[in-house]
Amino acid sequence: MKVTEHLANANGNTLFSFEILPPLKGKSIQSIYDGIDPLMEFKPKFVNVTYHREEYIYKERGQGLLEKIAVRKRPGTVGICAAIMNKYDVDAIPHLICGGFSRDETENALIDLQFLGIDNVLALRGDPIKTESTFKADPNGHRFAVELIQQVSEMNKGSYMMDDIQMAPTNFCIGAAGYPEKHFEAMNLDFDLQNLKAKVDAGAEYIVTQMFFDNTKYFAFVEACRNIGINVPIIPGLKPIKSLTHISFLPKFFHIDYPVELANELLKCKDNKAAEQVGIEWGIQQSKELKDAGVPCIHYYTMSNSFSVKAIAKEIF
Ligand code: FAD
Repeated sequence: MKVTEHLANANGNTLFSFEILPPLKGKSIQSIYDGIDPLMEFKPKFVNVTYHREEYIYKERGQGLLEKIAVRKRPGTVGICAAIMNKYDVDAIPHLICGGFSRDETENALIDLQFLGIDNVLALRGDPIKTESTFKADPNGHRFAVELIQQVSEMNKGSYMMDDIQMAPTNFCIGAAGYPEKHFEAMNLDFDLQNLKAKVDAGAEYIVTQMFFDNTKYFAFVEACRNIGINVPIIPGLKPIKSLTHISFLPKFFHIDYPVELANELLKCKDNKAAEQVGIEWGIQQSKELKDAGVPCIHYYTMSNSFSVKAIAKEIF
């Protein structure tokens, strides 16, 4: 079922959903199930599976020579989606990215998804490759998520790359990413919002936000979106802080700020357990306020660790 249908059927109740990462190459699918099982009691309407493109590593080949090798450390997004739908009878949403895909490869990936009965895709540009400072599109691929969304929308109208053949339309519900604290590359928030509007105009039917720790930023973001005519559902994404490392890692990697009150609590933490507990308590507080405000769904970033999300969900759903 499409995300938009799940939201419409919720009758104003806030839905629960979460996101997982494919396991590192070589780990079994059981590690995915171990992360999902504890969360099924909260009846998620959909589970997102992230997509991870290749990275480059350098192998020593003797005599001072290094070989540059492309490796994908977390393959399996599509297979995991199929396995989740088969085992749990819940909608699984693959993340689809521009990076590393030509338009033709994107078209073929979408055909695979359609054959698997997948009704939703979250369409993203993707992050730059770890060893590259900026995002580089495939020469025959997309530079921005809006172009990917346009391609999926065209396929939904039966327009494929080979335009001389009549093709069956696909029927994907398309999601897009939004950034309450601005995407880090955008010149300013207004510019970023206009680019978000372009994604919605191109066919995105709902938005999932980047993680944030200050609900006022989400509420302001939703208001700013509504003011420029973005009227689709905006699903807040929450990430529970899990460790002392997250104190600096999350702001640095995701370009978000901790509010002063949270920062003060984190500064008192002596070990990972204490930071995890602060993360859970903050997550409960944030979720309660969002639910009271009537958000359509709360989407949790598990990063393959369901312990904190379960502790929060127990209090909310
Ligand atoms: P875009 O919407 O293309 O925006 C990227 C930047 O370009 C923004 O600054 C925007 O303002 C600007 N921009 C857009 N259009 C134009 C234009 N026409 N001209 C000039 N500038 C423009 N990454 C992964 O690799 N795999 C994942 O599975 C994944 N999942 C994610 C899930 C969520 C919910 C979120 C919020 C992010 C996720 N990401 C993932 C990270 C995402 O790929 C990065 O944040 C990426 O840098 C931007 O992706 P986007 O789709 O928002 O890009």
